[in-house]
Amino acid sequence: MKNILVTCAFPYANGPIHIGHILEHIQADIWVRYQKLLGNKVYFICADDSHGTAVMLKSNELNLLPEVMIENILKDHKKQFKKFNIIHDIYYTTHNKFNYFYCLLLLNNLKINKLLYKKNIYQFYDIYKNIFLPDRFLKGQCPKCKKYNQYGDICNFCNKIYNSFDLINPKSLLSNTIPVLKKTNHLFINIKKYKKFLFNWILVSGFQSEVKNQLLFWLDNDDLIDWNISRDFPYFGFKIPNKYILNKFFYVWLDAPLGYISVFKKFCYLNYNYSKFYDFWKNDNDYEIYHFIGKDILYFHGLLWPIMLDVLDFKKPTNIIVHGHIKINGHKMSKSENNFISTKKWLKYFDSDSLRYYFASKLSFKINDINLCINDFLKTINCNLVNNYINIASRIYPFINKYYNNNLSNKLLDYNFYNFFLNKYDLINNYFLNFNYYKIILEINKLVSLVNKYINDYKPWLICKNLKKRYELHKFCTTIINIFAIISIYLCPIIPNIFNKIEKFLNIKLYWKKIQIPILNHKINKYKKIYKYINKNIF
Ligand code: ZN
Repeated sequence: MKNILVTCAFPYANGPIHIGHILEHIQADIWVRYQKLLGNKVYFICADDSHGTAVMLKSNELNLLPEVMIENILKDHKKQFKKFNIIHDIYYTTHNKFNYFYCLLLLNNLKINKLLYKKNIYQFYDIYKNIFLPDRFLKGQCPKCKKYNQYGDICNFCNKIYNSFDLINPKSLLSNTIPVLKKTNHLFINIKKYKKFLFNWILVSGFQSEVKNQLLFWLDNDDLIDWNISRDFPYFGFKIPNKYILNKFFYVWLDAPLGYISVFKKFCYLNYNYSKFYDFWKNDNDYEIYHFIGKDILYFHGLLWPIMLDVLDFKKPTNIIVHGHIKINGHKMSKSENNFISTKKWLKYFDSDSLRYYFASKLSFKINDINLCINDFLKTINCNLVNNYINIASRIYPFINKYYNNNLSNKLLDYNFYNFFLNKYDLINNYFLNFNYYKIILEINKLVSLVNKYINDYKPWLICKNLKKRYELHKFCTTIINIFAIISIYLCPIIPNIFNKIEKFLNIKLYWKKIQIPILNHKINKYKKIYKYINKNIF
C-alpha cells in the first residue's frame, strides 16, 4: 500500500471558482479516486490562497475587511468543489496560524544559512491607486524578446524571467496609466547557490519532458534570480517581524506554497495524527507527494519551492504534474472577453459529470492547452457518453425486464467476449497511473462500439420471438450487463454521479478489485434514466 499526498494550486480568494480551476481539480481528483480504488492511502488537500494585493483590492472594492471577505469566499469555494465531486480531505486557507509559523521558521533558517539580504530597489508604483504594483498587475514589453503585453515577472513568449522594473513601457493594469519608479527596501533570498542542487534534482525527477526542459532552460539561461520575498504596505498578508526588515509583509508567493505544509498540518491536527505529518514531510521513507499545477506557475513550484523545502529540511515532492490552460472555443477565458465560465454558471446549464468526462477526454501527460469547444462538448456527451455507452443499459434492460423479471441468468453466453473486456484492465490501469485519461476515453469508445455491434449482430429483438432461444437470450443479456458493469468500473473515477446511478440500477456495489467475478443469479433494479441528452448553449 502506498501513502500519497496530493495538492492542487490554491485558488485566490478574490473571485469565484471557474472551470479553469475545475480542470486542475478534476485531473487530480480522477487520479486520487483511482489510487484509492487500488487500495492506497491518499490525502488530497487544498486551500484558498488568501493573501496578496489582488485579495486586498477586492476586499476594498467590496468594502469588507479582507478577513471577512476571505471567510465568505472560502465557504463558497468549498461548496463549488463539492458540487463537482472533488474529494478534498481538507479545504482550508493560507490565512492560518500554522502557516505563519512556517513563514517565520523559513525566515529564521534563511537567516541562519546566511541566505537573506536587504537591498534598496526601484519598483513600479501606481500614483493614482497609491500602491506598489505586483508583477501581474503590470504589463509591458519583454526586456529580452521585446514582445508586447507581457507581465512583470515572466515573458509568455520567450519564457524569460526578469524583474518587473526591467519591463519596457510598463502600464498599470489597475489604473491603465504609466507607473512611476519608486525606491523601496526589500528582503531577498540569495538563491543562486542552489543552481547545482536544482540541476541534480530535476535531472533525476520523473517530470514530464516539457517540464524538465523548461526548468533546465531557466537554469541554463541564468533565470534563477534572487527572490524578493517582502512587500510594502498596504498589503493583506503576514507581517514580517521588524527585526528582519521594517514594516513589510511576506510576499503571498512565499506563504502560499508553505500552505501545502500548514494545511496538511491542520488536517493532522484535526485528526489527532501528527505522526502522519512527519511521515510525509520529514521522515525519510517512501511516502509520496504530488502537486498538480498549471503551466503559468511552474517557476514557483519547480525552482523556488524545492529551495524553500531544502531550507526547511523538508521532503521534496515526488512529482509535479503540469497542465495547460483552458480555452473556450479556441479563445483565452477571461471576463473581458465575456467568455468567463464560473462553476455556478456551468451548473445552471449542465451537470458536473459531463465536464469531468469532457476534460478527461482531453487530459494527457502533455502540457497542451485544453479547448472547451461547445459543439465538440455536446457531441462528446451526447454521442459517446449517452448514445453509445449509457444506451447499452437501456437497449438490454427491456428484455431482462419483460422475460426474466429483472433477474440475471446463471451463466454468461460468451466468456471469451466477456474476458476480452476484462483483459483491458492493465491497459486502463496504466493510463490512469500515467495521467493519460484521454486514452481511457478513446479505449472505452472502442469497447463501447464493440458492444453495440455485438448487440446489433445478435439482434435480440428477433431472437426474443423464438421461444427455444429464451435461455440463450437470457445469457446474452447477462453477458452485456456484465460488460456494461466492467466498462462502468473503468469509468468510475471520471463520472462518479453516473456511476452511483449505475450501481443503483445494477443493485450491486461494483469493485475495481473484484472485477473478475461475473454478476450472475442476481436481481437488478427497475431502469430509471441514468443520463439525459444535453442541448443547451451557454456560449
Ligand atoms: Zn520575451
